[in-house]
Amino acid sequence: MRKHRGWIVLLCCAFLYFSLPAAVHTRVADAVGAAVSWVTRQVAPSTAPAESSTSSASTASTAATPKEAIVPTGKLAARYTYSFAPHTDRTVQQLFTAAINIYNQTGIVKLTPGRAGRFTNHVTLSSYQKGQTNGEAVILGLGGPQITRWTGAKQATVNHASARLNLAYRSRLNVATAVHELGHALGLAHSTAPDSVMFPTDRNVTKLSPADLAGLRAIYSQ
Ligand SMILES: [Zn+2]
Repeated sequence: MRKHRGWIVLLCCAFLYFSLPAAVHTRVADAVGAAVSWVTRQVAPSTAPAESSTSSASTASTAATPKEAIVPTGKLAARYTYSFAPHTDRTVQQLFTAAINIYNQTGIVKLTPGRAGRFTNHVTLSSYQKGQTNGEAVILGLGGPQITRWTGAKQATVNHASARLNLAYRSRLNVATAVHELGHALGLAHSTAPDSVMFPTDRNVTKLSPADLAGLRAIYSQ
């Protein structure tokens, strides 16, 4: 078992799906369909049944890392702008910047600083602070895509995603967690392959596996 500061790190998955209310799009009548997927990254105390969780992991797989259900295949442009929300912690900015460099080096997606555009992909990065209440799992971060499909005169499928890291557990935040949450924002879902950056348990993996690269290519192969 991998120990981290005296804890066995267990990152569980939790999927929360919700749709934007239609009123959000009343300003622009021809937008249809928006969905949001948030995926949390959690750790639990060593008393949690970590053994069963980790032992259920399969060996490294050549199958592509899966995508979030709401993310279409081959519809998203590879280019993103990104920005940090106001008051984002500097350390979190550095972790996300390192994660962005890792994704940019794949040559599959390209993230550059900039403002969100209506018809272009964007990731908003931020920090937040939320401690656990008694008995709850520790949540290190959140990440997920928000897909809007535009029809009419201007046709586009756009991802306005978000990724956040939880400052309540500053000492446990690392580049791997930023890569994981940004992976969710870009559309990747959890993988059972231990060498995947999308494996739910923190193994400090910062290098995208061949399967992760294949998963990204599937989403961004327009
Ligand atoms: Zn996750």
